[in-house]
Amino acid sequence: MHPLSINKISDNVLTIKWSDDHESIYFADHLRKNCPCAVCEKERSHKNKVNDLKTDADSVTFSGWEMTGRYAVTFQFSDGHKTGIFTYEKLRNLCQCDLCNENVIRLQGPLRQGF
Ligand SMILES: [Zn+2]
Ligand SMILES: [Zn+2]
Repeated sequence: MHPLSINKISDNVLTIKWSDDHESIYFADHLRKNCPCAVCEKERSHKNKVNDLKTDADSVTFSGWEMTGRYAVTFQFSDGHKTGIFTYEKLRNLCQCDLCNENVIRLQGPLRQGF
């Protein structure tokens, strides 16, 4: 499974068409807040008590992106951040389409215990 195309819809929305025909939608602030780089991981663990990353992540937009190896996409955000390497697997988990959002809600139910 890999991206066939990445399309910018607006400054803060893009879609990815996957090799398995799924079309994902992503919002810049959502990806920014879920950035997997070491800096953000650390920031999140610090800010856990106040529940979220810094608020300016809400107004962040996409500046660009590039394919990284054959396994990930690196996004650049308007706040200058560009060290977040999102693996395909991670990206699929972050998909914001209706279908995937439903799955997330289901996973948060009692079934989760089984994993
Ligand atoms: Zn980061
Ligand atoms: Zn999806």
